[in-house]
Amino acid sequence: MRVRGRRRYWIVAGVVMALCAGGLVVFDRADPMKALTKFDIDSYPMRTTVTGCANPLVDKPGVADFRALLLSQVGGGDDGLAVCKKIANESGAFSDHADGRAWDWQVNASSATDRAMVDQVLNWLLRTDERGHRNAMARRTGITYIIWNHMIYRVRGDDARWTPYTSTGDPHDSHVHFSFSMAGAARQTSWWSERGPLVWMRSAEPDIPLISGPGALRPVAGDWDGDGRDTVGVHNPANRRFLVRGEVTTGDPYAMTPPVGPFGAIPFAGDWDGEGGDEVGVYEPLARRFSFYSILGAPARPSQVFGLAGDLPIVGDWDGDGVDDIGTYTPESKTFSRLLPDGSVRAKVFGSLNDTPVVGDWNGDAVDDVGVFRSSKNTFLLDAPSADGGQAIRSVTFGTARHLPVIGDWDGNGTDDEGIVTAG
Ligand SMILES: [Zn+2]
Repeated sequence: MRVRGRRRYWIVAGVVMALCAGGLVVFDRADPMKALTKFDIDSYPMRTTVTGCANPLVDKPGVADFRALLLSQVGGGDDGLAVCKKIANESGAFSDHADGRAWDWQVNASSATDRAMVDQVLNWLLRTDERGHRNAMARRTGITYIIWNHMIYRVRGDDARWTPYTSTGDPHDSHVHFSFSMAGAARQTSWWSERGPLVWMRSAEPDIPLISGPGALRPVAGDWDGDGRDTVGVHNPANRRFLVRGEVTTGDPYAMTPPVGPFGAIPFAGDWDGEGGDEVGVYEPLARRFSFYSILGAPARPSQVFGLAGDLPIVGDWDGDGVDDIGTYTPESKTFSRLLPDGSVRAKVFGSLNDTPVVGDWNGDAVDDVGVFRSSKNTFLLDAPSADGGQAIRSVTFGTARHLPVIGDWDGNGTDDEGIVTAG
């Protein structure tokens, strides 16, 4: 039985994102046979030399998508995509622009506002994801190199790094140059290709209707109508909206928020007022800021700054007062840091490198505990304190392949259960 005001929530870590417009939703049932190797990561993309100007020279669709995404969600200007030109040095080599596979984002390095916009986008592209994949979104979009403000990010083998840019006289301080692989430019990398339905598989209720829709969305579970049961939702990074199962009482099957938070922020859900029912929020990795919103998109409580660069956000009720609190997981040190309402921090080292953090009430005591999902073994390891004060690590193996973890009280019995989400 659900205790009124009790919170359960989960953080869903997942890199999966989509460019889809959102809103297209159908019901489907889980097909475990579909659960193969989704949510893995693309290899580092290789640059393909351009030997001349494409004829016809057109904007490649992946690059055009990327341009539309940044211009609509971040700002700046369009400084050119498909252009028949050579690289401005002695090499005589053709630019990726000559094949419609590069875009120049017009921003100015002398503007603090523009630099912040670029930092926001580069953090989104290059930050390590919750599975430990470095430069995750740049790989998923097929970016081979980026030139900005005297520096170049370039893929070399199975890695990529920033080095000083000296190969032309243009320091690229009036635009950011993005080059794409053939696959990325053709929308064949995972940012575009994983568009199948999201399939939710949950331990307690494997057969209830499942939210589907354009894949590569980020799953977000929560109790959206306050009935004591957690259910499905998604966050679309391309339009910054959450789509959640709606109020059963009003008959609306889904509710969509207005755009919330800045582009590139990491979504989560939780109970911000202790009145039961979950709402949404986002974590900005660069600013380390947690912001909280109602389902209508209104600010729900003051934002909070917490964490270290590279941390992942976690949300849970650490003290059992019915209101969710915040915290972070530091992947390098495998440390959960839970910020309590009195300002103290409760830290715990748990899990292994490349584990994905999860949070839930594993034992029904109305206090959320921590755990990890180990994708290599499809196993949840839950830190479940026992009644006598001891610790029990509960291991739950789920599924047959790599997935994203979700946690929620699917059946409303007062304890959280594990679930997995995969792309169809
Ligand atoms: Zn360029």
